[in-house]
Amino acid sequence: MSSVKFWSGEQVPMEMHKVRMVQRVNLKPIEERQAAMEEAGFNTFLLRNRDVFLDMLTDSGVNAMSENQYAAMMQADDSYAGSETYYRLEAALEDMFAMPYFLPTHQGRACEHIIAKTLVKPGSTALMNYHFTTTKAHISICGGELEELVSAAGREITSDLPFKGNFDLDKLNESITRLGAQNVSFVRIEAGTNLIGGQPVSMANMRAVSKICRTAGIPVVYDASLLADNLYFIATREEEYIGKDLKDITREIASMMDVVYFSARKLGAARGGGILVQNEDMFLKMRELIPLYEGFLTYGGMSVREMEALTVGLYETLDIDVISQTPLFVKALCEELLGRGVPVVTPAGGLGCHVDAGGFCAHIPQEEYPAGALAAAAFIVSGVRGMERGTLSEQRQADGSETFAEMELLRLAVPKRVYTLSQVKYVADRLAWLHENRHLIGGLKFVEEPSVLRFFFGRLAPIGDWPTKLTEAFRRDFGDSL
Ligand SMILES: *Cc1c(COP(=O)(O)O)cnc(C)c1O
Repeated sequence: MSSVKFWSGEQVPMEMHKVRMVQRVNLKPIEERQAAMEEAGFNTFLLRNRDVFLDMLTDSGVNAMSENQYAAMMQADDSYAGSETYYRLEAALEDMFAMPYFLPTHQGRACEHIIAKTLVKPGSTALMNYHFTTTKAHISICGGELEELVSAAGREITSDLPFKGNFDLDKLNESITRLGAQNVSFVRIEAGTNLIGGQPVSMANMRAVSKICRTAGIPVVYDASLLADNLYFIATREEEYIGKDLKDITREIASMMDVVYFSARKLGAARGGGILVQNEDMFLKMRELIPLYEGFLTYGGMSVREMEALTVGLYETLDIDVISQTPLFVKALCEELLGRGVPVVTPAGGLGCHVDAGGFCAHIPQEEYPAGALAAAAFIVSGVRGMERGTLSEQRQADGSETFAEMELLRLAVPKRVYTLSQVKYVADRLAWLHENRHLIGGLKFVEEPSVLRFFFGRLAPIGDWPTKLTEAFRRDFGDSL
């Protein structure tokens, strides 16, 4: 396991890899960072990478690839149909998940598109532990509703429960009874529940959910995008599975599901996606949509090079030394922040550190987007780009009113094997300073607001001149340091 005990007794995450290729990053002066944030409409999605020091926006498509992944890319078999590359990928997936049918797609949300089009009827309801932004959008576009049934602990910022992503099984039974099984389009289990802080689901909970669904005749869909983190937590936190072979665990999970889909931008550290299906009829229905929206069946919108990298990356997901790096760094970042009084989601999950923007910016009302304001302020004081995961990431109600998020979070993703521990310490230091000076952060308002997935392209402006005051305070405390 990539964590070692120091002589002092301290347990320190240890990189079980060495760096053999590097990318230069820029740490620009704060005045330039403030200008860049203004130019980006106070939306971290609209920043240019040249202005960013540490890019912690997401773990999507930005994980470090291994030498074996790069080497595999060179043997990619370029052909529109029947590429050997496709068959290598299919064989790896079969080996890992032991599910009979596979459909390739260009990324995770494309799987959601195909699944929603196949399973969601207008007026039906999809049940899930928690939604992901693109999942919700695809279900809504198909005329479906959704209900979130995550355990009560999953909705709390702080907890010491190891599996906060678990379903509340009583609620699941209640929803099925109330709606009628025939009106439930599917039950979706999201591994490493993204929007509530990368919180895992236990094997015991998945088994129970699957049993309930199979009894009721409802398809179970597993979003395996964040499977790597969830596997790590199962193999380190769930008694029955501690130290167990990760492939065996993965196969056991898949055996409980009717559909497994994933974003290969996360799982397998490449770029693409895929859907695995147990049932032939369902597979045939979904298959029709692949050439229409994705590409021919032996590439589905992925480049053959990415498919080769994915094949190798999937196997690397089954190596505990590989998959433990992110959760251990997330834990280190969370502990450093907590130690300095910054509120974060606990226990530390996978994917990234989730700062409690609601607590951090308690003086900013939800309609002024505290998590968005914190993301902008954090970038200005550090050059670190995080992602708003709060009200800004929600969709307005039909009457135009805001949907207030249950949690206002700033997510600082920790891409796999990309950053070092000193960079993690830098993030914690600047955020601790910002927390000390949090009264200087003000709210945001929309200047341009798209109607769908507004967080991607929306442009905002600060309410008042707080960014300048923040920059001035930083200069007073840090002198001419960047
Ligand atoms: C990223 C993600 C998706 C969507 O995948 P993309 O490849 O970005 O389209 C779906 N579900 C979860 C849990 C994710 O984290």
